[in-house]
Amino acid sequence: MRPLPRLFLTASVAILAPLPSALAWSQPHQAITRAALERLPAAQKALLGEELALLGDDYCLIPDHVFTDRANAKFAMVDDKPKEIYRLNLHLPAQQPENLETIRYFLGKAVAAAQSQNIKDAARYMGTICHQIEDYGSPSHTMPGDNMFTLLQQFLPPSEVMRDKLLHSPVESGELTVAIPDYTPKLLGTTMNEAAWKLMHRIHEGIINARSTTIPIIQALYIEDAKTVERHQLKAATFDAKIVADALYTILCIGTRTPADLEESPEGIALKNTPIAAYYPLEAASLYFPQTQFFSSPHWGHARSGVVLAEGKQALPLKLQVDSKIGPKEQEFSEGISAGMGRSLTFLLPAGVYSRFTVLAGLHSELGAKGKVEFTLSGDGKPLAPAVVSGTEPAHALECDLSGVSELQLTLNSKGGDSKSNYAIWANPTLQKP
Ligand SMILES: [Zn+2]
Repeated sequence: MRPLPRLFLTASVAILAPLPSALAWSQPHQAITRAALERLPAAQKALLGEELALLGDDYCLIPDHVFTDRANAKFAMVDDKPKEIYRLNLHLPAQQPENLETIRYFLGKAVAAAQSQNIKDAARYMGTICHQIEDYGSPSHTMPGDNMFTLLQQFLPPSEVMRDKLLHSPVESGELTVAIPDYTPKLLGTTMNEAAWKLMHRIHEGIINARSTTIPIIQALYIEDAKTVERHQLKAATFDAKIVADALYTILCIGTRTPADLEESPEGIALKNTPIAAYYPLEAASLYFPQTQFFSSPHWGHARSGVVLAEGKQALPLKLQVDSKIGPKEQEFSEGISAGMGRSLTFLLPAGVYSRFTVLAGLHSELGAKGKVEFTLSGDGKPLAPAVVSGTEPAHALECDLSGVSELQLTLNSKGGDSKSNYAIWANPTLQKP
């Protein structure tokens, strides 16, 4: 555990931002960043040169050091907000639009600096991005609105050992050794907009992974079991290192290669189609479905990725009747979303990246026989492709043009069949590049 730097205890600074609440894991920031840097291709390491060591030693902490390291503070600030020295969203997740804007801003700065061969600035902006990824994926930044865990401690009453201590710092502080020796960094996009949006979804995985560590860490702290604390911290840190590796690799690819060159590479070709069934829609605020987003037909519940829940209880594979040369046949889908009536799923899209959206819309071939559902695709509130499908007919292939669309919405409504049979499925929902 590290004491809070004295700066954070001064009144003037405390007024600016709730700093101690957002103070993150210092040594783990360095350990995670170094583990990620280790996995970059040799050419990227050579390009970073002497900045490489500084990224792991220092730059990944720039957003925490904005009041003490004035020379580098600007690399964690946005140009049009000169008074906002400490940008809270670099440490704590807000909702998707704000998170994406922050990621996009600093990724854009890092890429632009790399493109103009200013590696010193690029590395500093990359440090800020490392920090954001690592803080969002920290075990003590996992609880929306409660990163000191004062609410959580009402659910998990502290032991004598922890009774009067704030939990934030103990949950994340440690001396970790992080390594991802078998990991190959992945290209997240061929353009900055695509990469920022994909990085956001990657970070969502990091947040969910970190959430699974928080309670085991707190329980271990209560019984002073340092080994278990570290094991779970490492689970978060190791996952974060892979995301950081993806981010740094992608920034240096986009910053040093032409879009055409990246588009034609095997990694670029693989990015032509993006399945979105596993991505969080805006309705899953803070990455969970609040009860306001539940539906009551075909059962009481919320949207699921990859499965359909029979009567809201039993997970079954996604199966649809689909057209084929020999007539309708049943097909199973690993990529898809089951959802309920009267609800929408809204996906934030990156500007100017995808041109089309395709999906198969139908009712589950066993559970949905008596249902009848209207499937609607909308772009920024405008209906683009509606279809009414009954349980006895094959799924409809829907598609729409995404030019200028920033929010894609998938909506379901009952059309008068048996409401308990409206097992609607969006199969293979896919964004396509031109
Ligand atoms: Zn931080």
